[in-house]
This record gives sequence, C-alpha cells and structure tokens, in this order.
Amino acid sequence: MFVSPAPSLWLTLAFSAALCVSLLVRFWLATRQIRHVALNRQTVPPAFSAEISLAAHQKAADYTITKTRFGLLELALGSAVLLAWTLLGGLNALNQGLLEWLGGGMAQQLALLAGFALISGLIDLPLTLYQTFVIEHRFGFNKMTLRLWLADLLKSTLMGLVIGLPIAALILWLMGSAGRYWWLWAWGSWMGFNLLLLLIYPTFIAPLFNKFQPLDDESLKTRVTALMQRCGFAAKGLFVMDGSKRSAHANAYFTGFGASKRVVFYDTLLRQLEPGEVEAVLAHELGHFRHRHVLKRMASLFALSLVGFALLGWLSGQSWFYAGLGVTPNLGNNLGAPNDALALLLFVLAVPVFSFFVAPVLAQFSRKHEFEADAYAIAQTSGHSLAQALLKLYKDNASTLTPDPLYVKFYYSHPPASERLARMAA
Ligand SMILES: [Zn+2]
Repeated sequence: MFVSPAPSLWLTLAFSAALCVSLLVRFWLATRQIRHVALNRQTVPPAFSAEISLAAHQKAADYTITKTRFGLLELALGSAVLLAWTLLGGLNALNQGLLEWLGGGMAQQLALLAGFALISGLIDLPLTLYQTFVIEHRFGFNKMTLRLWLADLLKSTLMGLVIGLPIAALILWLMGSAGRYWWLWAWGSWMGFNLLLLLIYPTFIAPLFNKFQPLDDESLKTRVTALMQRCGFAAKGLFVMDGSKRSAHANAYFTGFGASKRVVFYDTLLRQLEPGEVEAVLAHELGHFRHRHVLKRMASLFALSLVGFALLGWLSGQSWFYAGLGVTPNLGNNLGAPNDALALLLFVLAVPVFSFFVAPVLAQFSRKHEFEADAYAIAQTSGHSLAQALLKLYKDNASTLTPDPLYVKFYYSHPPASERLARMAA
C-alpha cells in the first residue's frame, strides 16, 4: 500500500530541490560570465575603442571577474549557513535555548529575532571586510578607513535596534492578538512603517552617515533648476553628498517623496562629469519619475508584500511549515509559547530560495524602465551628453563592456553600456 509522505517531508524535499537547482543555475551563470569577460579581455569592443583605453577595459574585466568569483564564495557560504539555520537545526537550537532561559513570551521572541540578526551579521562580517578592504581597495575604489567602517557598523547596529525592535514588537503583538486576519493588520503597519522611513530618511537618517551641503555651483544650479521646471518637477532642494568619504563610485539620486523630495549628487559625480553631462544624468532620473517607474515599483512592492503576509498568515498556522524546515513548533501552545518569531524567520529564510526563479522577470522590467528613462533624457537634454556621461560612469566604475548575454538577462537591472549606447545612437 502506498502511504503518502507527510506534508512536512514534501516541504523539506521542495526546499532542498529549489536550493540545489538555484545553486546550480547561479554557479553556471557565474562561470559563463567569468569565461565571457576573460575571453574578451584582450580587445576593446570596436564601438568603444575611441573612448576606452585597453588598460581601462582590462581593469573592468579584472574587477568584474574578481567580484563574480567572490560572489560564488558568498553563495557557497550563504547556502551552508541557510542549511545550518534550517534543516540542520540551528534556528531550532537557538529557539529552545532562549525558551529555557526566558520562557515563552514577548521577550523570548524579540531575543530570537535579535539573536538571529546578531549571529547572521557576525557571519557576514569577514566577507564585507574582505570586499571593502581587499577587493575595492585593490581596484582603487575604497576610501574608507577601518575607523570609519567601525563607526558605520556601530551606527547602523544602533539604528537597527532603535527602529527594528519596535516594529518587530508591533508585528509580533499583532500576530499574537489581532485574530485570524492579523496578517492584514501587520501588512498595513509594515507599509505605514516603510512610508514613515521614506519620509524621515533624507532629514534624519542619511545625515548620520554623510554630510549634505546645498549645491553651490551657481551655473549648474541654474541649469538643473531650468531642467526640473521644464520637466514639471518640484524638489525641495539640491544637495551634494560627500560620497568620496567611502568610495570612488559615483551616483545621483532622488530621495524622500511628496514635499520632502530632494535631489542628491555624489561629490564624486560632480567631479567626474561636465555640467551638461550632470544635467543629462539628472534628466534620466526625472525620466523614471515621468514614466511613474518609482510609483509602479512602490505599488508592486505593496502588492507583493500583501501576498507575502497572506502567505505567512496561512503558513504560520501549519505545523508542517516548521517541521519541514527543521524546527519543532510549540504545538497547541503546550508551553504557552507562541511560534510567531519562528514563523517570521523561517519565512524570511525560505522565500528567497523560491523567489530566485522570478528574479529574471523583475530584472527584465527594470531594464525596460532604464531604456525609457534614457529616451526621456535624450528628449529633454542631449543624447551626446548622456552617452558621454554613461561612458565616463561605466569607465570610472569599471563596469565591463562585454558581459555574458545570458548573465545580463538574469541579473542586470541596467542594460549593458553597448545596448544603451546603441539605442541612443538610433
Ligand atoms: Zn535609471
């Protein structure tokens, strides 16, 4: 007689299979990327030979290969840690230990979340250190001192505690006492919390890490203000951020929303680009607003998290969800201990293993949006300036001009330089 396996066994199998397949796909894509970049290392693509030197091209190739190899190491370690937390019983052991120590209550649940975050952070620490002080340093991008790095770490940990603990406590409380539809309330709170963060980020959080000064280059200011008026865009201010304090990579962005919107230029960007090119980069960003990309992204984020919370609402009530991922739930509340923090953590750990397979769809949308923003920028400013700016940014960031096409399809949120410039020329 055939006895169908328990649902928890099905979950264990599905989780292991998804993890194996995603690992294989990622390893395969990374080796493709490394091979493709290495094969094209000897010659600058003809379309770029006038602007990009062979030395710059080779630096970009080496930087890309080094980062992709490092990504493989991160992937291997990350998967081992994921297995250790779940099927090998790490999370279960932490939970049981804290139950014995603190009993089953809110304190234990918060301790479980904080303990998990602390241990994960400690495991990641050597990797981030290596990335900043070895890889970024070797290619001349790192400007951070160990002292600044430690100060950042301290500040962001404190920030995580001050901001993270109250929202975690609120969600755990809702899970325990808001009844069957707790997940709807939790979703609402989570969204409200995110909007609040967006609102306070530019004025309260970002200044803890960087200095922001009003843009004082009058001619650039006039140019940029005229562009924004032409595009019907109101921002509360133009600011220059001391990005050079940490890295030589350049950027510009909008932050905040509604009346608190502001434009932020990295000082590194202003140093590398001519005024006309800065204007073109800003016009590209305005293109994202005009086409409502930001709004669309936020709306899909809201919708996705609603689905996520609904799924969590259902899963957290199924004992196979815990057992299938290596955790013994406190069944029937025999200890009087809720499983809510456990459910949150298991969900956060397991979902990315499955959602990896939709990543290419999201990347595809993102690349489409980039093309639309480029087209907008060309209509508002000059195609030549935008092309020059992109070339400089690709060169200064050592982005490879010859990525593997399949790797691009899977991961790239921005189209490769060759495709963007070809569209601009057309
Ligand atoms: Zn863009």
